[in-house]
Amino acid sequence: MITNGKFGKYGGTFVPELIIPALEELEEAFLRYKDDEKFKEELEFYLKEFAGRPTSLYLAKNLSKKFGCKIYLKREDMLHTGAHKINNTLGQGLLAKYMGKKRLIAETGAGQHGIATAVVGAMLSIPSEIYMGSEDIERQKLNVFRMELSGGNVIPVESGSKTLKDAINEAFRDWITNIETTHYLIGSTMGPHPYPTMVKHFQSVIGKEARRQILEKEEKLPDAVIACVGGGSNAMGIFSGFVDDENVSLIGVEGGGDGVETKRTGATLCKGTEGVLHGSLSFVLQNNDGQISEAHSVSAGLDYPGVGPEHAHLKVTGRADYVAVTNEEALRGFELLSRYEGIIPALESSHAVAYAEKYAKIEETKGKTIIINLSGRGDKDMFLVAKEMGVEI
Ligand SMILES: *Cc1c(COP(=O)(O)O)cnc(C)c1O
Repeated sequence: MITNGKFGKYGGTFVPELIIPALEELEEAFLRYKDDEKFKEELEFYLKEFAGRPTSLYLAKNLSKKFGCKIYLKREDMLHTGAHKINNTLGQGLLAKYMGKKRLIAETGAGQHGIATAVVGAMLSIPSEIYMGSEDIERQKLNVFRMELSGGNVIPVESGSKTLKDAINEAFRDWITNIETTHYLIGSTMGPHPYPTMVKHFQSVIGKEARRQILEKEEKLPDAVIACVGGGSNAMGIFSGFVDDENVSLIGVEGGGDGVETKRTGATLCKGTEGVLHGSLSFVLQNNDGQISEAHSVSAGLDYPGVGPEHAHLKVTGRADYVAVTNEEALRGFELLSRYEGIIPALESSHAVAYAEKYAKIEETKGKTIIINLSGRGDKDMFLVAKEMGVEI
């Protein structure tokens, strides 16, 4: 029996009936193995030895001086494959192995989740097939090559806008016909139950570590935790460590694109309305007829017209605040961290950096402590940023 998987009214299992048995099987396996000693030990081993955990909580002293408050960076950018995504792909990959699945499928937008899935597939000796919009394939040739090097078979998707949301649709279609043999490894805290709960569980290692580390370093909790929100997994991962601490402000930063008031935006929680996308009720960017709009953000990871249902719940209950920063502001965040700290962030993470600067100005933050979740590193964004800056490389 599937439990309802609701966060307040959000979440749920809005899928064709054919997928229900697979979701039930997955929920059962997740509940069985997540507390299983052998599973936990093996996952911990891979997180440490393969991915490079724990990541440090680094005091950014130059930025702290500039912002006038203490800024700590949770360094998920230091992980293997360059972002937090590996935490979840290791968790689900191992779960698939315990379930006896012979094949992994995944969706990818820019390719980051596809790479994390392909390397875990290679490591665990499970073949992987990655659905990717043909438009994205064209834009991200280097990442396609990376996936292929690790044995991932990249399948172009020609339907719809030929981007991430269409790749997710195709992956679901594949799953329906291959449920017995295949695990669909979703890359963020989205999709039908149990995915939002399961992905949060595998990403909660970020919040657990960050909480322990800040208490060690500061002997108190932070005043605010800031993370970027695409589907919402890195934010949910770090928020989960502090959500019960009422005095810690939780702030999610969406990809504002050209601006929330424009059509070219990815700010689903700031601008969207309630609706169902990819199996759960949450906020979506849509027109009056419920047709999904195209999202836009300079960072591919925030360029998604949906958002994880637990974030919708945290928003309407007021436990977390959601804001958006524009492409331009994010690029400034990118330059700021590179220049002041010698750390080149992913464009997604640059949104959190950019908002931290704003936050320090708006709020009375003197003497306060802020943690920024640095979800990934910027290597993947070099060509794009150079182009934006008018630099030829
Ligand atoms: C994919 C990605 C994101 C966005 O995904 P979430 O599920 O919202 O975390 C953010 N940062 C980086 C570096 C990414 O690769």
